[in-house]
This record gives sequence, C-alpha cells and structure tokens, in this order.
Amino acid sequence: LSTRASSILNALDIPTTSEVPGMYDGQWRGSGDILESVCPTTGEVLARVQSASPRELHEALEKSSEAHLVLRKLPAPKRGELLRQIREALAVKRDALGALVSLEMGKIKTEGIGEVQEFVDICDYAVGLSRMMNGRVVASERPGHTILEVPNPLGVVGVLTAFNFPVAVYGWNFSLSFAAGNANVWKPSPSTPLCAIAVTKIIADVLERNGLPGAISSLVTGGKDVGEAVVNSADVPLVSFTGSEAVGRVVGKAVQSRFGKTILELGGNNASIIMPDADLSMAVPAVFFGAVGTAGQRCTSTRRLYLHRDIAPHFLDALQKLYASVRVGDPLVTGTLLGPLHTRAAVGIYSNAVQRLRENGAQILTGGQRYDEGGLRQGNFVQPTIAIPNSAEPTDAIWGTETFAPILNVGIFDELEQAIAWNNAVPQGLSSSLWTRDIRHLGKWIGPEGSDTGIVNVNVGTSGAEIGAAFGGNKSTGWGRESGGDAWKQYVRWSACTINFSDAAPLAQGVDFST
Ligand code: NAD
Repeated sequence: LSTRASSILNALDIPTTSEVPGMYDGQWRGSGDILESVCPTTGEVLARVQSASPRELHEALEKSSEAHLVLRKLPAPKRGELLRQIREALAVKRDALGALVSLEMGKIKTEGIGEVQEFVDICDYAVGLSRMMNGRVVASERPGHTILEVPNPLGVVGVLTAFNFPVAVYGWNFSLSFAAGNANVWKPSPSTPLCAIAVTKIIADVLERNGLPGAISSLVTGGKDVGEAVVNSADVPLVSFTGSEAVGRVVGKAVQSRFGKTILELGGNNASIIMPDADLSMAVPAVFFGAVGTAGQRCTSTRRLYLHRDIAPHFLDALQKLYASVRVGDPLVTGTLLGPLHTRAAVGIYSNAVQRLRENGAQILTGGQRYDEGGLRQGNFVQPTIAIPNSAEPTDAIWGTETFAPILNVGIFDELEQAIAWNNAVPQGLSSSLWTRDIRHLGKWIGPEGSDTGIVNVNVGTSGAEIGAAFGGNKSTGWGRESGGDAWKQYVRWSACTINFSDAAPLAQGVDFST
C-alpha cells in the first residue's frame, strides 16, 4: 500500500495489512464475497473488504431490530445528545475522512472535506430537531374529545447509497432516522466500502461509549445481493435508496409489493437557463462548477445548458476559456479542480456518450477524449466536454438520459417559455437553475408555469445544496425528500389518536346508533 493511502487509513483506524471486515452489527466481521476498493486516481487496490454473507446479513437485521427496542425507549432529546457526540467525533476526523473520500471516490479534497462537513451540519440540524419533532393537537367536532397526531419510530430503516456521496448520504439519513428513534442498516456502494467502514467506526465508538448497542447503526457491505436482501426484508419498514433510476425502479416496486415505505433519490438531468439580462460574471463560473465539478458525478451536476441566442456566443467563449484553464490531476493535491471518474466502466460510458454525440452530428466544442498522458494514464481521467447536439429537441435520447460524466450539452433558445419547456421535457426532475435579473422571469420560473424539478434555483447553479431545505427530485428522480424541510416526517409512523375525556361517547358526523 502506498504511504499516502496507509497514513489516511491509519488515521481512521482501518487495518492496512490483511482483509478488512466489512460488516458491523455490534461486532466487526464478514465472511461473504471480497470487495476490492480501488483508487480511481492511481488504480491502486486500497483494500480487500470482506462483505456480509447472507447469514451475517440476517443476523445484522435481527440485531438492529433488537437495538431499536433499546433506542425507542430513549427520549428524543437524549438521542439528540448522542448525535451531538457523533457530530464532535466526526468533526475531529473531518480532514482524514475527507481525504479518504478523495482517495476512494475520487472527488477533490475540498469537496471530500465538504462532504464530511455536510454530515456534521446535518447532525447539528438533527440535534435541534430532536427537541422539535412535534405532533399536533387537532380540534375535535365532538364535545370533550381531542385528537392528537403522534409521531413514533418506525423500527429499522434500510439505507442503500450510491458511490458519489459515500459519506453525506448516509449522514442525511442516519441523523434524521436516529433522531426519530430508528435503528439503521447501511448498505453502501460496493466500490466505496472504506468510507462506510470509517463512518461506521466513528458512530460505533460513540454508541459503545454510551453503553448502547452498535446495531443501532449496522453496516452490511456487499453488492446487488446484499442490497436485494435489505430491500426484501419484512423487518425493514422503510427503505431509503439513493442511486440510479434503473435500480430505483426495481427497488421501488419490490418495497411497494410488500407495502413498505420508500424514499427514492434517483438520477438527475439538470439544466441551467441563461437569460440575456443575466450577470455573466456569476453565471459562467457557476455553470463551469456545475458541469465540471466532481467530474460531473453529482446527481445535481449541470448536464444541459440553455443559452439565450443574444448571449450564446459570448457565454460559450467565456466558458471555453474556463474549461481550458481546468487543473486536472490527483484530487488530493491542493489546487486540482478535476479528478478522475470513479471507475474504468464510467470511462467507457463517457466515451460511448461522446461517440453517440458525434454520430448524431453534434459539434464538440471542447473535450471528448480520455487524458492518457503521463501519470493520468493510470487513473480514470476524461476531458470535460461541451457539445452542441444537432437538435435541441428534448425527445432525443441525448437530452433525456443522465450520463454520469462531465458532458455538457448546449441548446440555443429565443423565448424563456421554450427554455422552460425543454427544461421540463426530460424524465428526470431533480435540479434546475435560471440566471436572470428580471423579476418577471423569476416569478414565472418558480410558479405553476415554471420548472418542475425538486430544486429550483435562481442565480445559483444546479449543484451544491445546503442541508436546511428538503433535498430531492420529482418524476423519475423518485419524488423522495431528504435532509431538511419536512423530510424527518418520513422516518416515523404517524398515529391519529382521538381521546374522549367526557362522560358521553358520541359518534362523529352526528351518526345515531342508539338502541
Ligand atoms: P447504482 O444504482 O448503481 O447503485 C446504488 C446502490 O444500489 C448501490 O449500493 C448498489 O450496490 C445497490 N444496488 C444495485 N442493484 C441493486 C438491487 N437490485 N437491489 C438493491 N440494491 C441494489 O448507483 P451508483 O452508480 O452507485 O450512483 C450513481 C447514481 O446515483 C446516479 O444516477 C445519481 O444521479 C444517483 N444519485 C442520486 C442522488 C439524489 O439525491 N437524487 C444522490 C446521489 C446519487
């Protein structure tokens, strides 16, 4: 193992010598398939992780169900105090964990650390929430009666996560779910097991120090089979799934068929619309970050750019200058802006998408190739690409498909209405962004004739959401909401309790059933 990789793993108490146990339910072990964690920058195998066998998975689910019985007895503000301790423990390891995200997933250092900060922020939020998960008192039509709406924990929440946010997405789910009183079973992406192990160790330490069962936050690494077992388990009333539309469709149907609950956070195909009155000194760098940041591997990455005809040549000129200046290389080196794609397979998906654009007569303004000179050859580095497809008609598959790579397709429009129609014409509905100084455009954009996505920004790019607002998308993005807003309400079971403290027992709606 390289010295750099060993020092990052050491700082997070992950063994560097033999195979690493990849499951935890109060006890670390793993006798299932071996998962290899491969560094996308160098191709180095960082670890061989022992995933959960079917029997171990079953045990983890059982232990988590038992752990929930303990957790549900703790008052919510006490759970908040535990979250405060987890927050502190995460903050201490912020830089090391951020470095591991860069090492294993491939995003640049500032984003790796930012991702851990997001978990810290959502812990803060959930600490506050632990004193504010309020039910309601509802006026009853019957004298001497009152109605309460009461939230109670669900039990065990299954959290299935994608590779591109290997820390934060579990953070969003765990913090709210734990504050609400649930035990959690985490099935991370098979290509980022080390991030999941590091996070679980931090949480487990706090739980164990407080004499609580570790299975409150169980970890089951593994591939599709392990994911399916969590999804199909009758012991998991809520499955929170973050990943592709294709897998989300399968997961959604499977959970629905056993009448479980889901939160689905699926693919995005996000557009920025630039009006002629936009401040281009802000809009151009924002589009650059949205399309090139994280090498186009955020669910909220900007994939479609709609430019008003009047400013299109100037905008594209300025944007290409920024593309030409991008510093590509090792994500752990300060100053790098573009790291690798996460896997070799993703490079193939990028190349196929570029090829399809070429075959369809698109103009490739910049990019379109792998970087294969010098040290970059060992990693999965691809050039960020700007293309003007032959047709701006959104029915074309080029516009309607999420390609998880830094490819930005550009269309030119004349009227805002046309751009909004294009924005809304794709299957996905995660994020969108309008750049304008005109309040009339803004009003239309955020209203009923406006953008149909879950995140609707104005003079802010498509990516880089804060934790305070509910995060998620509509249509084939799955309608799920996580993090802020009212997202916590999904992690509880609601009871409507009508209580009679009078000496009579009248029926509602005046129904008379007297003898
Ligand atoms: P993926 O769908 O390939 O995998 C997601 C998870 O599902 C992994 O843990 C995987 O092992 C598991 N899985 C695979 N098959 C399964 C099955 N049949 N049953 C149960 N689990 C199964 O996604 P990915 O490539 O890791 O991530 C990229 C995708 O995630 C992109 O589409 C991106 O837009 C999306 N994403 C969405 C959000 C959001 O909030 N909307 C956030 C991050 C990523």
